[in-house]
Amino acid sequence: MADSMATIERIYADVLRRNPAEHEFHQAVREVLESLVPVLDRHPEYAEMKMIERICEPERQIIFRVPWTDDRGEVHINRGFRVEFNSALGPYKGGLRFHPSVYLGTIKFLGFEQVFKNALTGMPIGGAKGGSDFDPKGKSDAEIMRFCQSFMTELYRHLGEQTDVPAGDIGVGTRELGYLFGQYKRITNRYESGVLTGKGLSWGGARVRKEATGYGAAFFAQEMLAARGTSLEGKTVVVSGAGNVAIYAAEKCSQLGARVIACSDSNGYVVDERGLNLEVLKQVKEVERGRLTAYAERVPHARHVAGGSVWDVPCDVAIPSATHNEISRDTAISLVKNGCIAVSEGANMPTTPEGIRVFLEAGIAYGPGKAANAGGVATSALEMQQNASRDSWSFEYTERRLEQIMRDVHAACHEAAEEYGSPGNLVLGANVTGFVRVAEAMQALGLI
Ligand code: GLU
Repeated sequence: MADSMATIERIYADVLRRNPAEHEFHQAVREVLESLVPVLDRHPEYAEMKMIERICEPERQIIFRVPWTDDRGEVHINRGFRVEFNSALGPYKGGLRFHPSVYLGTIKFLGFEQVFKNALTGMPIGGAKGGSDFDPKGKSDAEIMRFCQSFMTELYRHLGEQTDVPAGDIGVGTRELGYLFGQYKRITNRYESGVLTGKGLSWGGARVRKEATGYGAAFFAQEMLAARGTSLEGKTVVVSGAGNVAIYAAEKCSQLGARVIACSDSNGYVVDERGLNLEVLKQVKEVERGRLTAYAERVPHARHVAGGSVWDVPCDVAIPSATHNEISRDTAISLVKNGCIAVSEGANMPTTPEGIRVFLEAGIAYGPGKAANAGGVATSALEMQQNASRDSWSFEYTERRLEQIMRDVHAACHEAAEEYGSPGNLVLGANVTGFVRVAEAMQALGLI
């Protein structure tokens, strides 16, 4: 135990030294390393083989210039990233994030998380992430298209359906993937559907992919509650965010009998004690690309709160689906105090390490993002299957597959937590399961 702890501290100090000022990456690595102490106790060979050090070092990191012109003809330069983290289990797989806060540390933390998440799905996919510090907010359709074309003009040489398969993430949806795919097709002269996932239905996309991350987070919440002898039926739910993760987590929770009473965007949040009207929410967010104030104007009993935190709204179940580190220690304390019994993370790393400690110490059900939101990338792998066989599955069949995958992810995390001496601790369960699956494959493939 003491030896394993010392090994972990040494590896962590090394990660800090080699990756200066990448705080989110440090945070993601720290959480995984702490979970691995009991694994090293049981498998000293992983320490000898430097398995953890290998997994913490990306296989390849690509940083590139993305020049583009706006509608007035002014030239802009952004930075593009693709971190190909680990390909032991399959081709690199993970989304692209376009947001002004993106820097190498963001993409590395997301890529690192993706390695474990993808392993948890049980599908043959490695882990990667990419993106840019480009801000899509307020840009015209033509500007978005020119940016995507320029981004792909560099990225295409690193992609391929057997090599690296991006998808969407914050700021990258079906529209952006369309422009990216169009440029890939044009440059390579190949209609290689399996090179991107999250595509539109008319050009190789899969049913349920748009809904998958949110539906999956709701299924995961349902599994956590079932393990504690209850269900979503009759529970109140709050989601943060108002993108496709939040909207479809809300939709599935309400189909499973819960009442979803609040969601948020960057300007504030709406509360609707009778349950959110999802048709209006979709119209405002997906069709009009508008703000939640427009939702409140149209739904008479809804209340819009400018600024503030959606987590001030008491709930039984919380599904954070906005971005990383939105739930601090204080937020976690107030959620627990207000009666929250389950947190299922639709976003990647939405809770700070101090917030996670609060949830675990309170003994509430806590599903970390790499497990709870794995339904998105799992359905991407189903999209790749359909593309490879030139097939197209029904909504019902695909959703059944997704639900079973989420059950299996939960069961694997739950069992590993028990096996490694921390029953109910799904953080430990997810990290250990993901790590062991990747480490076993890496071991079999030799010194890679
Ligand atoms: N961006 C999503 C995630 O965080 C999906 C990735 C994918 O489908 O490749 O898992």
